[in-house]
Order: sequence, then structure tokens, then C-alpha cells
Amino acid sequence: MQYISTRNSNKRYTLTEAIQQGLASDGGLFIPESFPKIDLADYNIEMSYIEFSEMLLKQYFKEDKLNFKLKEICKNAFCFPVPTVKINHNVEMLDLCKGPTLSFKDFGAKFLAECVNHISTNKKSTIMVATSGDTGSAVASAFYKKENTQVIVLFPKGKISKKQEKQITCWGKNILPLAVHGTFDDCQRLVKQAFQENWWQHTMNISSANSINIGRLLPQMTYYAYTSFQYYFKNNKPVGFIVPTGNLGNATAAFWAKEMGFPIREISLSTNANRVISDYLDSGIFSPRTSLTTLANAMDVGNPSNFERLTKLFPEKENFLKNISAISVSDDQIEQTIINIYNKYDKIICPHTATAFFAKEYKSDDSWIVVSTADPCKFDDIIEPIIRKKIPIPQQMQELLNKETKNWEVQADLKDIEEISRQYFF
Ligand SMILES: *Cc1c(COP(=O)(O)O)cnc(C)c1O
Repeated sequence: MQYISTRNSNKRYTLTEAIQQGLASDGGLFIPESFPKIDLADYNIEMSYIEFSEMLLKQYFKEDKLNFKLKEICKNAFCFPVPTVKINHNVEMLDLCKGPTLSFKDFGAKFLAECVNHISTNKKSTIMVATSGDTGSAVASAFYKKENTQVIVLFPKGKISKKQEKQITCWGKNILPLAVHGTFDDCQRLVKQAFQENWWQHTMNISSANSINIGRLLPQMTYYAYTSFQYYFKNNKPVGFIVPTGNLGNATAAFWAKEMGFPIREISLSTNANRVISDYLDSGIFSPRTSLTTLANAMDVGNPSNFERLTKLFPEKENFLKNISAISVSDDQIEQTIINIYNKYDKIICPHTATAFFAKEYKSDDSWIVVSTADPCKFDDIIEPIIRKKIPIPQQMQELLNKETKNWEVQADLKDIEEISRQYFF
């Protein structure tokens, strides 16, 4: 399997190159040159999640040197349960929040960390990542103690929640957390700047772990494939998914799994008040804008980067509109849905997951699996006042909260960051 850029299909890359580069040199995103159709006979209901995933991903690792490591990568990355929970007669919830930092981002981050660690055996890689919350903790946790890597996490000082900050600053060893005097945009700008500087490129061998990396997207296909296969076997019909969406990464992975032929009836998206996708579906015009702040803040995206990957999958607008539907959900509706689901099913859901449950109300009576993207305890400050109840804290979160934390403060200046990195890593 070779990989191409969304903007130019002439040049081909290996999987290792695509993971290492993150972004193609023409500014496009990497995609597989084709989506192999599955042979259902290769899969069976007895397979463990790890075996199933290895069978699926094998196609995408063919001809790459990482191929020999795929079994080990799957075993180490998919080390937590992926349960589907019954909600009522035609709705189930796919719970993607059982990983070490309690959001679906653990799947992509852990898988990518395994890949990067193997790729970097000859030369250590430095991952630099800017975060406004979930990504930083998932990446820090995933790369922690991976001996061929070191990680710098930039977060805007005082602008992320206390729990989020703890999850980024509790690691030590090869993880350097930096509280930047500035905004999230400053943090992102510093990362981009570092990628253009000699010292960072050559001495530090800088690499990115952000959500556009193909090494984060491929593993996300596995839970749609596995869950739809299990559902089909038990119910003898394909199921639909409703996916809470921001940068469209998770949703793109779902469409890729469907494209391969896994038994998925349809895929529907839910967004918060950032309406760029619903507006596109209504008007046929894609108009990126600055993002609005909402209760579902991990989905506050005004210019979803994976849109480019989806349009490659459905190049004709008519086909795009036929295959994709989306509902935009306001903060009031998110709050109301959290209350409704709690009262009706005694289930506490996070604000992101709430957008999908809200969208379900406008869907057909067919069977649906609503995707849960984060554990509610990460958003206790929003949810507890609404439902007036304390949210239980899962054990892995409690363990992180009990750890000691340490971070360094820096100005929004790359020279400052270089200085601290020299002290910390050399
Ligand atoms: C990142 C994130 C999303 C959005 O996922 P995309 O792949 O960017 O569409 C949704 N919910 C939670 C909790 C997230 O952390």
C-alpha cells in the first residue's frame, strides 16, 4: 500500500514516510491510494479486538517496514476495552472512553506512539504538540517512556481546565510540559515555526502528533469495523453510526471503514454550534470561519482539516450530499440532552456525546449506534451543575490526579522553548 496527498496523486509515499512527515510537502493530507475491499471470510465473531484490528490494518501496512511490527503495535495500542452499551430498543452507545486519558483520542495517540517509536530506532524523534485540552494528555500518556521519543507539550497557561492541566503535567521523564504565556493560537504558531527551523529539524528531529497524522486516523477505523461486524452478526442487518465531529477525523475513519465494505448502513454527523459542515450540506458552499466557543470545546473547529480527505472520498458534490448528513446542536440543546439522557436512562454523558444523542432524535427509526467520545468526568465543571450530581471518577483518572505535577513556564517565544529543551533533554 502506498499513500498519496489529497492535492496530488502522482507522488507516492510509504506509510513510514507519511507518518514521519505528517503533512505532504504540497500542503495536502496523506490518504491511502486505495481502500481494499474486505473479504468477510477473513473475519469471524470469535476474534479479539486486537486480532480483528490486525487483520484490517494489515492491508495498510503492506510493503512498509512497519509491517513486521504490526502485531506488536496493535497489542500495545489496543489495550483497553471497547464496549457497546444498550440504551433502548434501537439505540446503542459505543463507548470509546476506556483508555488511559478517557477520550477516543487514546486510540490514535497510542497507535501513533507505537509506530513513531519503531520508526525512530536510529534517531530519536521529538514530538511537539500544541493543545487546548484532550490532545495533549492523550499524546503525553501515549509517548510516556517510549525510549526513542521525547515530547514537548505546549498549552496556554491558565486557559485549560485544572484536570486537563494535571493530565499533561503529571508525567516527567521524556515528557516536557510547557505553560506558555499566551493563547492556544500562540502555541500552534510556535509549533509551526519550529518545523521550519534548522535546529529543530536536524538536532531535534521534530515530528508532529496532531490529528491530521495518518498514523492517528488508520487505527480509528478499527472500532467502526469491529462494532459494525459484531452488530451485523447478532442482528443480521447493518447499523448506522452518529459521530460527534470537530476536525472530522473520527468521522473520516468511519467513512473509510464503510468504504472497505464493513456492514455500516449510514454515517451521520453531529456538531456543536460551529456549523460549517451543516451549512455546506445546506448550501453547497464550504466557508471556513473562526470557531465559536461552546460547551463541547473539543469540537470548537471553524475549519475542519479533514474535510479535504472526505471530499477525496466523495469528489462529486451530489455524492457527498447523498452520503453525509449533519446536525448542528446549540449549547442549550446540549444541556437539555445531558439532563434528558440522565433522567431517562440514568446515564451521564459528556457535552460532545450529547450532540450525537440530540441528533438521534431527528433520525429514522432504524437502529443506531451513538458514539461516545469522552468520559463525562473530564467535564465535571459543566455537567455537575446541570444534573446536580457528583460524577464518579474512573480509576485511571484518579491515579493521574494523585500524581505529582511539574511544568515550566515560557514566553510565547521559540528561543525560550529551545533553551528549556536543551536543559531538559541534553
Ligand atoms: C477531538 C474530540 C472530538 C472531535 O473529533 P474529530 O476527530 O476532531 O472530529 C469530539 N469529542 C471529543 C471528546 C474530542 O476530544
